[in-house]
Amino acid sequence: MKQHELQQLIDKLEACRSLSKGEYTALITGFDAELSEYLFDKARRIRHSRYGHDVYVRGLIEFTNYCKNDCLYCGIRRSNKRAERYRLTENEIMECCKEGYALGFRTFVLQGGEDPFYTDEKIISVIQRIKAQYPDCAVTLSIGEREHESYQAFFDAGADRYLLRHETASKSHYERLHPKELSFEHRINCLYDLKSIGFQVGCGFMVGSPFQTPENLAEDMLFLSRLRPDMVGIGPFIAHHDTPFSDKPNGALELTLFMLGLIRLTLPYVLLPSTTALGTIHPRGRELGILAGANVVMPNLSPVSVRKKYMLYDNKICTGDESAECRNCLEMRMRSIGYQVVTARGDVKRDTV
Ligand code: SAH
Repeated sequence: MKQHELQQLIDKLEACRSLSKGEYTALITGFDAELSEYLFDKARRIRHSRYGHDVYVRGLIEFTNYCKNDCLYCGIRRSNKRAERYRLTENEIMECCKEGYALGFRTFVLQGGEDPFYTDEKIISVIQRIKAQYPDCAVTLSIGEREHESYQAFFDAGADRYLLRHETASKSHYERLHPKELSFEHRINCLYDLKSIGFQVGCGFMVGSPFQTPENLAEDMLFLSRLRPDMVGIGPFIAHHDTPFSDKPNGALELTLFMLGLIRLTLPYVLLPSTTALGTIHPRGRELGILAGANVVMPNLSPVSVRKKYMLYDNKICTGDESAECRNCLEMRMRSIGYQVVTARGDVKRDTV
């Protein structure tokens, strides 16, 4: 397709907030630097009209790297016998929150592998303690697939948000990234479940994951239109040396940025992080993500002693820095491109009409 036809597709996406699978595929296959700029300009304008130049921060607490799952791409998969496992205690998690609160964080994200040690009761206890101590903060969970009753109990305990990337919206692609015992349908059902319970829900996918086609990414876009999540987390796939995908190429910066722009046009209200993985494949990746339409960053609040152990992929950045350094570094990075990190819960601003 010619450049001006692709530009027309972007105009159409801006006006209609959706495209057909074929149209998304044409954009994903045919984009270049010029079209990207055309897209990012619109994405920024939409983002500024809702969120101004504010960047929301989330304090990420990686509280366990034990995992019962065996996702082929992930460095903390259970078959990786070389991963050094750790768990934070409830008190250690509370320490992270204390430090984070003083640094201006008003959202805490508890992320971990699927660790049966952390029973519903233990998770509920942590949620209740954080909400009691910091009633002005949001608690986000990112602990994988659980049953409806567990999700309901987490919500009742005060959790506000839940991140569960769908990883890919194509069943056949999903099955090439995961072992047989993991079910695509179950993961998608979890997202609808979380939404019906009342969580602010985040889904997401990796860009450039092994075997991914442009059609798969187009399906991801259609899935976003169906689910209408509050948040979408995307980042490039990055190989981890101790996984079956150790020799697979990393996802590309340019394509990840282009997808961020497409997501902003499709879901104008959405909370869209510029992820650590993006910062890992390019020294200014997170700044470029913001300039492509993202409005959230998620610096690490985990104790430095465990940071290197939560290695989902190789060369992950910020594993040696104290939380305060990460916070300051991001603030400077955002200021360098004309944006400011704000102290706020940073809830979603959905359409008012
Ligand atoms: N156990 C939780 C949290 C998973 S870690 C859950 O199941 O939701 C958070 C995200 O990191 C994953 O959803 C995945 O999209 C991403 N991730 C894992 N391995 C990765 C890799 N090698 N490269 C890039 N992203 C990866």
